[in-house]
Amino acid sequence: MPSAPGWRSPATRQEALRKFDRFSEKVGHPRTFRDYAGLEVRRDDLLGNVLRANAFESRRDLARVGKAVDRSEWHMTPQTVNAYFSPPLNEIVFPAGILQPPFFDLEMDDAVNYGAIGVVIGHEITHGYDDQGRKYDADGNLRDWWTEADGGEFDRRASRVVDQYAAYEALPGKRVNGRLTLGENIADLGGTSIAFEALQRALAKDPSRRRTLDGFTPEQRFFLSLSQLWRVNWREAELQRRLVVDPHSPGQFRGIGPHVNLPEFYQAWGITDASPLWRKPEERATIW
Ligand SMILES: [Zn+2]
Repeated sequence: MPSAPGWRSPATRQEALRKFDRFSEKVGHPRTFRDYAGLEVRRDDLLGNVLRANAFESRRDLARVGKAVDRSEWHMTPQTVNAYFSPPLNEIVFPAGILQPPFFDLEMDDAVNYGAIGVVIGHEITHGYDDQGRKYDADGNLRDWWTEADGGEFDRRASRVVDQYAAYEALPGKRVNGRLTLGENIADLGGTSIAFEALQRALAKDPSRRRTLDGFTPEQRFFLSLSQLWRVNWREAELQRRLVVDPHSPGQFRGIGPHVNLPEFYQAWGITDASPLWRKPEERATIW
């Protein structure tokens, strides 16, 4: 795989694996649902509802001061179409909302699902090792567990990702902020590598699943699925706003950015240096 396992020292590698061993995951919905008893919601009072909901939430937070951390708590509702990694809890969380098309579809073949929810799972795992997540250790504490040389090499490799995305022009004269979006772009890159390898392992386990469908190989379907995942339609003003505040790159770049760093993408489609998608090997980012 493109992730170069060779560049980290055994000491850093061991800590990284220790952290990975301690990962926990939550899928679907919490075991016990939150109790909203006491929160008054009125059909004709939007402002009042917002104020009461805020007060309700503040009271709940204040009541928790001094008590033990609730590790079963979810920071998203089950119906949310999203997922997250929590550095202090070292956990990855996938609400039921994201376990549906286009992220996950039981009717679709493996390649399509690995290229979608597979990449999302890999993305959340990689957040544990992106430019922010790597500062937390296996216990969820802020502790630098990298050797100085490995930390420096990480930054050098990450700077390629910064340069790559900073060159993407989302609106005339307005480019992606490569630093703001770095963590998400690293997570996309790592997630794509992980999911691609997972698909290869699944296909190796059961070669009968290696089929060409509608003229596309599993590898092609994987990358197609990932690109289709990020179809978006924003108004110009919204895109402009997101360029300033959103740590995610706009969808059109998430749908191609990770790909062009992976040799497997060029192999899958027979892309050569004659193609506009070609990225010189020495410019491709390899972190995880
Ligand atoms: Zn993310």
